[in-house]
Amino acid sequence: MNPELADEAPAPAPIRRLQESLINRIAAGEIIHRPASALKELLENSLDAGATTIRVTVKDGGLKFLQIQDNGCGIRQSDLPILAERFTTSKLSTFSDLSKLTTYGFRGEALASISHVAHLSVVTKTRTSACAYKVHYSDGKLVPAQRGQSEEPKPCAGNDGTTITIENLFFNTPTRLSALRNTSEEYARILDVLTKYAIHNSKVSFTCKKAGSPSPDLSTPSASTTRHAIKMLYGPSIEKDLLQVTVNENTNNEESWSSEVYLTNVNYQGKKTIFLLFINSRLVESSRIKRAIENVYTGVLPKGAAPFVYLSLRIDPQSVDVNVHPTKKEVHFLNEEEITVQICNTLQAKLAEQSQSRVFEYQTLLTGGIETSSQRNDKKRKDVPTETQTANDEDQENEHASGSGPKKIYSHHKVRTSLKDRTLDSMFPVVNPSQIGKEPTDPNSEAQPQARSRDVKESECFLTSVNQLRSRIAKGKHKLLTEILEKHTFVGIVDVNRCLSLIQYSTKLYLVNHGALAEELFYQLGLRQFGDLSRLKLEPPPSLRVLVKIAVDAEEISEETTLSKSDIVDRIVETLQSRRSMLSEYFSLNISEDGLVQSLPLILRDYTPNLDKLPLFLMRLGPQVNWMSETDCFESFLRELAYFYVPGPIISDDSVSTTTEQETDEDLAGSKAERWQIQHILLPAMRRYLAAPKSLLDRDVVQIASLPDLYKVFERC
Ligand code: ADP
Ligand code: MG
Repeated sequence: MNPELADEAPAPAPIRRLQESLINRIAAGEIIHRPASALKELLENSLDAGATTIRVTVKDGGLKFLQIQDNGCGIRQSDLPILAERFTTSKLSTFSDLSKLTTYGFRGEALASISHVAHLSVVTKTRTSACAYKVHYSDGKLVPAQRGQSEEPKPCAGNDGTTITIENLFFNTPTRLSALRNTSEEYARILDVLTKYAIHNSKVSFTCKKAGSPSPDLSTPSASTTRHAIKMLYGPSIEKDLLQVTVNENTNNEESWSSEVYLTNVNYQGKKTIFLLFINSRLVESSRIKRAIENVYTGVLPKGAAPFVYLSLRIDPQSVDVNVHPTKKEVHFLNEEEITVQICNTLQAKLAEQSQSRVFEYQTLLTGGIETSSQRNDKKRKDVPTETQTANDEDQENEHASGSGPKKIYSHHKVRTSLKDRTLDSMFPVVNPSQIGKEPTDPNSEAQPQARSRDVKESECFLTSVNQLRSRIAKGKHKLLTEILEKHTFVGIVDVNRCLSLIQYSTKLYLVNHGALAEELFYQLGLRQFGDLSRLKLEPPPSLRVLVKIAVDAEEISEETTLSKSDIVDRIVETLQSRRSMLSEYFSLNISEDGLVQSLPLILRDYTPNLDKLPLFLMRLGPQVNWMSETDCFESFLRELAYFYVPGPIISDDSVSTTTEQETDEDLAGSKAERWQIQHILLPAMRRYLAAPKSLLDRDVVQIASLPDLYKVFERC
């Protein structure tokens, strides 16, 4: 035998038993994926315990601290030592029990798992106990609160019920922890789970807040109804279009399954399907059922629009396959297909029945248009109406229209003039940029943008130059054009790149260059807030020189100048540096002593300029601003600022060639965000603040049609 050869073959590694704690940690990871999954288990325990009030407190997306307090039945002191051991449960003692179980959890694994990946503590009191007890767990066992102390349950003061606290989740599984860095996303998921349970348990009061925050982010009353809960948590726009259906099946006079469904009708068009599925009161996922329900809507909703559906299904517990996955999230059950088909058929019939009435509704709305638009002229509204107000207005409009009042509206005047009517853009789902990255279920997302728009106050200013500029705007104001913009109805964006939108005023349709309008708007708003502009902080602050250099490098230098590019950069940086204090005081443009751009003027809340244009903006400030005369300086600075703020990409000659490349997802999201800003922020701001100068009429606002004329044309078709 050749001893060398024997050396080459590796000796078999000894097989070792994995450390038990490691096994448990791995097993725990299968159940507790993230803070929201821990919370789901705890919520179910609290609901099993008959709680009517559940309070959740969260720190750092639940990773640092996640606490749930309930007023349920509590846990007996004698049970506390084994509470967090694996397979301890009060809900199951023999295998045959498994099939009868209707409560939420049933394997006694949740608390055990949590104790393996976090610091777990419990304070609990049953109704009959004289005091509460506090315990700490680690790796399934009781541990002392501090070294040297006893691990026995410690008597303490407390209310009936149980408070479970999880701290430092995944502290001993660093890879898992690092995969969950985004605490706001984790928080959004927590809110999502809570929202869904709050819908399903409308009789129970839920609250959720961040630790240290005075007000909750989610709060529901006790003894509410499903419909009301949906309205509160998903917004009145969903509730308004909500239908309800019950589907069940009886065999031999015995109910074999039953379901209750709340679903939106064809008038509701969400951006993304919201689907809540509860089977036997447990939040579960089933991609098959979801797909089947989405299919019901494909025929009746426009492309890109999505419904809201909440389905609560009760089936014989024996027919649920609980062993599919330890988290029991994606479920399967007996006769799944049959039941799904039956539910979907009923939903389809309900939607069809309802979609016939839509035609009627649509027409009455049309008839109401003109009348209210003249009323609106009288009222001279200042504010953009809020969601609810407009909804009421619409109701009124409907009433006006259906009542045979003296003012009969002729059919050729039936045009859309209510702000609330559907716009072209609503057919293409567009997302509020501030919602990107969040879960789609932010309760108030619908109502937010308008509610948040606040007054832009005119700053007090004693500089003659500024007052001169302000009165110039007032003098230059074109009355009709301003009125058109003030009272217009947004129809849709025609071309984002060329900045073209359609708006309607009275019965006329105008094509406007929203870019040009926005530039004027930003100039006026900048001037309006002169010396009092909010600051848009740049974190970390970029270097002024680097930014200017980027822009100068991209520029073609005319042959006449003798200056090199780096000379030009030096000059511009010097010019701006030497006026640091003025730029900061008047325009909130802060440049630090060592040349970092710390903040930019924020002209309009909720609107962020395209920061790709920042280098260009800073560079242009050098040559384009007249730094010698006060009035000119302010005006030219504000014009440059407005130019920087105008939506859209950097316009340069070679941009044409680069846009031919395929649009990336990011571009797409960017352009969606931009559309959203144009419709929901810029145009509403124009309504309120723009004193439109006549110059805009020459090129940027064109009347392209008169609707009554168009209607005549259509009538002939
Ligand atoms: P399971 O819910 O599957 O039984 P858990 O580990 O989630 O397993 O919980 C173990 C046991 O602890 C439960 O069976 C229940 O008796 C008790 N328990 C947990 N949370 C609560 C609570 N909030 N109120 C009362 N009892 C609870
Ligand atoms: Mg449980």
